[in-house]
Amino acid sequence: MSPDRAVLERAIDEGEREGGRVEFKERLTKDLHLSEGRLESLAAQLRHRVLSGDGTATYVIGITDDGGIAGISPDAFSESMDVLSILADEADAHIEDAQTWGVDGDGLVGVATISEGSVMTDDEHIVVGTAGHVDHGKSTLVGSLVTGQRDDGQGGTRSYLDVKPHEIERGLSADLSYGVYGFDEDGPVRMDNPHRKGDRASVVEEADRLVSFVDTVGHEPWLRTTIRGLVGQKIDYGLLTVAADDGPTQTTREHLGILLATDLPTIVAITKVDLVEDDRVATVEREVERLLREADRTPLSVARHGAEAAREEISETVVPIVATSAVTGQGLETLDDFFENLPKTEDPRRSEPFQMYVDRTYSVTGVGAVASGTIRSGELEAGDELLLGPMPDGRFRDVEVRSIEMHYHRVDKASAGRIVGIALKGVDEEEIERGMVLLPRTADPSPVREFEAEVMVLNHPTRIGSGYEPVVHLETISEAAAFYPENEQLLPGDTGTATVRFKFRPYLIEEGQRFVFREGQSKGVGTVTSLDPDA
Ligand code: GDP
Ligand code: MG
Repeated sequence: MSPDRAVLERAIDEGEREGGRVEFKERLTKDLHLSEGRLESLAAQLRHRVLSGDGTATYVIGITDDGGIAGISPDAFSESMDVLSILADEADAHIEDAQTWGVDGDGLVGVATISEGSVMTDDEHIVVGTAGHVDHGKSTLVGSLVTGQRDDGQGGTRSYLDVKPHEIERGLSADLSYGVYGFDEDGPVRMDNPHRKGDRASVVEEADRLVSFVDTVGHEPWLRTTIRGLVGQKIDYGLLTVAADDGPTQTTREHLGILLATDLPTIVAITKVDLVEDDRVATVEREVERLLREADRTPLSVARHGAEAAREEISETVVPIVATSAVTGQGLETLDDFFENLPKTEDPRRSEPFQMYVDRTYSVTGVGAVASGTIRSGELEAGDELLLGPMPDGRFRDVEVRSIEMHYHRVDKASAGRIVGIALKGVDEEEIERGMVLLPRTADPSPVREFEAEVMVLNHPTRIGSGYEPVVHLETISEAAAFYPENEQLLPGDTGTATVRFKFRPYLIEEGQRFVFREGQSKGVGTVTSLDPDA
């Protein structure tokens, strides 16, 4: 039994009792559990559980009333969590944390910890996306930062926070992170024992500023969904690990390419420096610097320029490199200093017109179609009149904003960078597709089937020829597209121009947008350089 599973076993053992803090729910659905009357009684029940647990309740999902393990599909689990968060909001509480376990087949059971009060506002919470070759010390580095404990070099620290792939797949990783610590006026607030959920909750409670880590491109089989996570969610900074003994690998190169393609301000940590001589660290640092320069970034060595300079200069173009060891603690203070002081990345697009790419859709009884996603630019208010599309025929529909839900709270207004659910009048849920755009009624959008792009092949077994057909991930669009390289072919490591044609339907895209493409083992990144509205 893994230590993690103990959390589940304990909750099941404790059982659903009158006056207890544990509640079993097999599954929660928007249709049934958010209907009038039902919502209020479930919220009252949740409130009661939270009070019984002195401020925290435990909801076990995928479990029948009598404690039998049922297991529900990832989609059903995700919907249950959405419903639970609305119930929590209604009861003046919030989901603090959730963990899932797979049960036979692709069924899931999960434990959600619900705490009293509302969530921190996003401005006091920065989200760091981690990446790096497997075994290059990501989990250990995050484990050492959040616990303040040193690693034994044998995987001691990382076991605190081994991520389950379905947590990533669920797409909830921005608020349900795998590591979290904070800062108050006296410095870092860390978890003493991350196995105990209570410690995590107290960090969240005590800290004035929270830093949470989400795994981004670390799990190869999950790359597609994690790419979506990267492109579709608000991550503030990237943290890439490169082990001092191995140095940069092909995976390092790919992960760096993906982090930088999304314009994420990134920090490179050279890990495990305790294992090698100083001149080896210097060599690895030079190799990383070369990779960064090839990607048009300016490396900034903390060893040479100091932590303060690095923290002030970090940007989309300047990438600090810091030598670390989770065993000796070298470099960890520098990272603490960064995370204590780095600003929440500002969204410069707030003053532009409203735009949002639809990520997910669902339907709520009595409310109708809801489109969720991250607001890409501008601001939105309930009652706004918008366009939605393109529909498969390229046309846009008139819709109206009925209501807005943000971080599971109903709000009147929301602005760029926020993840929202928008209830829409004038369209059925089945008509809304991922990759469509919402924009002001006054806009005059021209969707395209074809565009020109500057592409870079990160990995490919041979060469990319005319008619190569990967899946393109651009904003929330995931669609097969044919590539026609200008010079007939592109080799791994090559940068070149290509015409890209969506296979099935037009989309609304614009110059300068970045995308990732992938097919089997091959992958690459690109930038839209011009649109061809007539193709
Ligand atoms: P991940 O796959 O990138 O998450 O890598 P892990 O965090 O699981 O680390 C892989 C192995 O390297 C584990 O056995 C760690 O104990 C070890 N390790 C990680 N960081 C350090 C370090 O700074 N020094 C030493 N000596 N070992 C480390
Ligand atoms: Mg790991």
